[in-house]
Amino acid sequence: MSAVWRIFFLLNFLPIFSKKSRVLDSASQNRDLIYLPCLSRYNDGMEMYSPIEKYFRLTEVQKRGLKKLRLETIRDLLFHFPSRYSDITLIKQIKDVVPGEIATLYGTIKALKTRKTFRRKTPIGEALLEDPSGTIKVMWFNQPYIAKMVSSGQTVRLTGKVTKGSKGIYLTNPELEKASGLPAQNADSSPLQPIYPETRGLTSKWFYHAMKKIMGSDILDNIDDYISVSILKKYNLPTFRTALIWIHTPKKESDGLAAKKRFAFEEVFFIQLLRQHDRLEYKKNKSFSVTLDKADRDRFLSRFPFKPTGAQEKAIDRILKDMSENQPMSRLLEGDVGSGKTLVAAVASYAVINNRPQGQDFGNLQVAYMAPTEILANQHFESFIEYFSHLPINIGLITSSGCKKFPSKVNPEGWTTISRPQLLKWVANGEIPILIGTHSLIQKKVLFKYLALVIIDEQHRFGTRQRSRLVRKDSFAPHFLSMTATPIPRTLALTIFGDLDLTLIDEMPPGRKAVITEIVTPEKRGGAYEKIKEELKKGRQVFVICPRIDEPDPDKELALNVKSVKAEAKRLKKDVFKKEEIEILHGKMKKNEKEDVMKEFTDGDIDILVSTSVIEVGVNIPNATVIVIEGAERFGLAQLHQLRGRVLRSEHQAYCYIFSDSKSQKTLDRLKALKTAKNGFELSELDLELRGAGELTGAKQWGISDIGMEAIRNIKMVEAARTEAQEIIKSDPELENHLELKKALEERNLKIHFE
Ligand code: ADP
Ligand code: MG
Repeated sequence: MSAVWRIFFLLNFLPIFSKKSRVLDSASQNRDLIYLPCLSRYNDGMEMYSPIEKYFRLTEVQKRGLKKLRLETIRDLLFHFPSRYSDITLIKQIKDVVPGEIATLYGTIKALKTRKTFRRKTPIGEALLEDPSGTIKVMWFNQPYIAKMVSSGQTVRLTGKVTKGSKGIYLTNPELEKASGLPAQNADSSPLQPIYPETRGLTSKWFYHAMKKIMGSDILDNIDDYISVSILKKYNLPTFRTALIWIHTPKKESDGLAAKKRFAFEEVFFIQLLRQHDRLEYKKNKSFSVTLDKADRDRFLSRFPFKPTGAQEKAIDRILKDMSENQPMSRLLEGDVGSGKTLVAAVASYAVINNRPQGQDFGNLQVAYMAPTEILANQHFESFIEYFSHLPINIGLITSSGCKKFPSKVNPEGWTTISRPQLLKWVANGEIPILIGTHSLIQKKVLFKYLALVIIDEQHRFGTRQRSRLVRKDSFAPHFLSMTATPIPRTLALTIFGDLDLTLIDEMPPGRKAVITEIVTPEKRGGAYEKIKEELKKGRQVFVICPRIDEPDPDKELALNVKSVKAEAKRLKKDVFKKEEIEILHGKMKKNEKEDVMKEFTDGDIDILVSTSVIEVGVNIPNATVIVIEGAERFGLAQLHQLRGRVLRSEHQAYCYIFSDSKSQKTLDRLKALKTAKNGFELSELDLELRGAGELTGAKQWGISDIGMEAIRNIKMVEAARTEAQEIIKSDPELENHLELKKALEERNLKIHFE
């Protein structure tokens, strides 16, 4: 536990905040945290930290729903923000609609059915919508699943284009929203109705009324703001109280926007406070000073069949300089797939094992190298054997399916499997200086003797908390090198990796030909397959990526117009590549099945591997030179770029065929950016601009809420939050003079999992 929280706990037992330090209710005890009810000093009963069920009668289903949404207290409820607002003045009567307009209609669903068009077999969902003024037909083309979200008799709000067909007018592909009753609009109520994220048992309407009840109490009367007035003024943000009122009951659109802006700023500001604090804390530790002289470095590098790029040299310089210090390095190495991060990791590792523990003339310092998947851990293990086999050192591999050690006693050229306890013993006594693995690497049982460097490959979830676990009792902390090819915009990197120094490898090894990328529309499919056959004839291998694993169950869900791994593999075998060996790979397969397929593909026994996008980054198969991506419009540009990176590993010219069935020019234009953008980071910026923060690759995995993600679109806001947080942490690292802020931070930390 860091000092901030320790002090925070202490403070909480001193009744200095509140005159009426009340006994705690069971809900707050459950959260391992003790709150002072200081935000609700003088109210008529409703308290911020009381459980919701104290004031609301809840069914079992609703209780489960709240649990699922992780809402326990009244305060949690207040932070359950609307996802958007619906303007009820825009609702039209069916008799008034005009072809060509986008109309919002409100009524009852009737005659719901799904079918396929005769000629093109396009799946269609169909219904009638009825209101007191009349009836209109509704059609969902290509998205019959929408029709599955409602049933006949339900009251809904639909927003969509009014289209004139040969048999009359209908509403095309409307956005659907279930509505249990039209809120009456009286003179003083707002036309903006908040729409809340729902779950079973808890409708948007339930939240709407719950918020009304809370807002109606005097709970908000005495709440203080934890963000200083000066910051609020500087960035023109509403106070906490105003923002809560505006976000739940906006009178006009700008209220809702201003409130969102405040909460977005707040979230990024909070993350920055924690990151800047963590950064300071980690730097306080001692570390093994690691040095590598020029001659040794050159000798090690001379064993590689190529010269490092300038960008690699620079990264190595930075890292060696960091590691020569007595305080631990915290560095993030960003570089596109294929930019050669492994070499940098290898030099850093070499430097470490080349150093003896302080005051000793025997033994080595140790390196832990963590990969995101078993396949990659194995690949790194094989590579490191190649790089280090000339040295008298042991290399270990630990994954959940077993342990290996190089060299084997029987065969000094190769590795051998060993038992886990044996491996752990050798790691603990320092006999294995390099340990490679998956997450198994950082389990409590894995103890190192002289851990000097931790390298983390593509593990965003490896945060400060995990890192602090690696700090020894004598406060020696390993140097920390995180590597990523995940193309994310600068604003997001500054936020989620705010505690790390950034190094970019912005140069690809020479002679590497760019992947020739083609956007293939349906009529050009045949031509593309011909070109792929040419490659196969040369003995090369092909990846085919599909958006889903299986065909949907026809009884439950209508076929979406999306290719699946299983069906596409069959189709390709039957119609296109009759002679080739085709196999499939997806996330639902067992670990050993996946590994077997991967191995067969690596060995060249499989020509075409049809897979989902799960096994994304870093897989190294130099003979695979073609990647086909089906349903490309469903992926973000940055993700497509990452997928394309799979075929970037070879001396041969690589090809990427982006198959899209979309007829929208906008979509095709977006995909064309793949041909022009210089690197993945540029594409991620484009994704952010064109599709919004929510669509960023794996946006959810960073634990930032939708509202927080709004801030990510705004570099000024991110920089402001960072500057303000740095200022505060610099002058008051433990937030002793910012107690309200500290408290708010701790509360939010329970919800946002930064690690
Ligand atoms: P990533 O940054 O995606 O981890 P890798 O480290 O796996 O990339 O490197 C990709 C490929 O490029 C490997 O086969 C590696 O041997 C090769 N490589 C790395 N650096 C260079 C270089 N400077 N010149 C030529 N090839 C290189
Ligand atoms: Mg890599």
